[in-house]
Amino acid sequence: KTLKQGGTFVVEPRRLSKASAELRARGFGEITIPPSTETAEKQASRCTDCGVPFCQNACPLQNNIPDWLRLSAENEPREAWRVASLTSTMPEICGRICPQDRLCEGSCTLNQSGWDAVTIGSVEAWLGDQAFANGWVEPIRPAAERGETVGIVGAGPAGLAAADRLRSEGYQVVVYDRHDRAGGLLIYGIPGFKLEKHVVQRRVDRLIDGGVQFVLGCEVGKDVTLTELRDRHDVVLLAMGVYQPRILSAPGRGPDSTVAALSYLTHQNRRDLGDAEQDGWHEARGKRVVVIGGGDTAMDCVRTAVRQGAASVTCLYRRDRENMPGSAREVVNAEEEGVVFEWLAAPKALLSQGDQVTGVRAARMQLTEAAPGQRRDIVPVPGADFDVPADIVIEALGFSPEPFAAHEPDLRLRDDGTIKVGSVSFATSLPGVFAAGDAVRGASLVVWAVREGQDAAAEIDRYFKTRTEEVAA
Ligand code: FAD
Ligand code: SF4
Repeated sequence: KTLKQGGTFVVEPRRLSKASAELRARGFGEITIPPSTETAEKQASRCTDCGVPFCQNACPLQNNIPDWLRLSAENEPREAWRVASLTSTMPEICGRICPQDRLCEGSCTLNQSGWDAVTIGSVEAWLGDQAFANGWVEPIRPAAERGETVGIVGAGPAGLAAADRLRSEGYQVVVYDRHDRAGGLLIYGIPGFKLEKHVVQRRVDRLIDGGVQFVLGCEVGKDVTLTELRDRHDVVLLAMGVYQPRILSAPGRGPDSTVAALSYLTHQNRRDLGDAEQDGWHEARGKRVVVIGGGDTAMDCVRTAVRQGAASVTCLYRRDRENMPGSAREVVNAEEEGVVFEWLAAPKALLSQGDQVTGVRAARMQLTEAAPGQRRDIVPVPGADFDVPADIVIEALGFSPEPFAAHEPDLRLRDDGTIKVGSVSFATSLPGVFAAGDAVRGASLVVWAVREGQDAAAEIDRYFKTRTEEVAA
């Protein structure tokens, strides 16, 4: 774990290799260079087995990190993989895209004591890739088939995680999605430079091989109603995410003057997946791009624009760097790739000539002193407005739930439109209908969607088994 040099112990340095910014800008492949077996084992061996697994506590899946790090360090990757897959249905995906700086690695004892954290995410992704390459990923083969059927609305990480667990228990699982591919935001939101698409597809293929049925191009509420699904299945799980983009409220914003972040990212993801170019797909080559927002979606847009060959890329965020919602790691990546950040810059108006947007007028903001227990507020600096020229303005201001409930008036929602569920049972107000993922939590993280999908599956299993016992009694 530690090396003794000149009478003192030193910790092995952290090593996480990325492609150079120049190379990254040329394509949409993942920027992280997978570690060699030697590097992965060495990184795993940096874990000090501190006794209080802060990393595990900070992981939404409560992954048994110290154990699979130890097994990796001891050259037992297959066993490490088995431990990693006990708590997670997609370790290799979370290992790639979790904001580890805010989760497991942020809590690593090494990090807390001034050394750089163990590269937990990178070792997790490496284990997953080893497992797929060496045939250690077990197929889904239920010990016994069960007659009950579950319809899952949404093939994102929440729906896929639930499908994995339910099918493994022998239930008949059908996943409905309005898109033509399964994966949700893993396939059409998150760009390939964070998560290559074949990594998602091999998970979907495993589910298909295990007997999960996918009905794609099927929008619940349009092509089939929730009532019909409830008639068709014993249980329905709603896992349809949140997709209503929040829009900029500023003078000069016309219906076509901005581009919605998710359409922009979806078009590029479709190109990466080999789909034929369609009229109206957005592209930033040679253009000056301004992205408004400070979350993961904004970071993905600015970095996509760099790779498309934009003339310039500027990110406007109304708060400062410390208060932005996106991962600090992604900001560093974007800066390395040439993105200009205007912190404390709130869009005030869109500038245009005729139908063509020409720029964004922004107010320079400053932080106020925080009231006790409150977050610092922001106020404009008088007379400090400035203009940023733009040919494309991308809005990445977050998402709200779509008005899905209109199709079932008895489905209870919270005030923000997310679905109200029992905090442990995942049961909605409709009998036999459960919900999980962003549709319940609001826009969140993949790892939370996986956790909720798995937990909801366990609750659905319990629901069926209790019902069987009640009928038998
Ligand atoms: P989704 O992934 O949104 O899947 C929902 C599925 O339901 C979709 O496939 C959709 O087509 C389908 N659907 C919706 N309505 C219907 C309907 N009526 N009928 C049929 N199907 C329907 N998280 C991270 O942890 N790390 C990241 O780096 C990260 N980057 C992100 C980047 C972007 C651009 C975005 C938008 C989000 C990002 N997130 C990230 C958040 C993460 O992607 C989500 O929290 C996660 O995907 C939520 O999973 P879910 O299964 O609940 O929903
Ligand atoms: Fe860390 Fe995410 Fe993996 Fe948990 S799932 S160990 S938080 S990378």
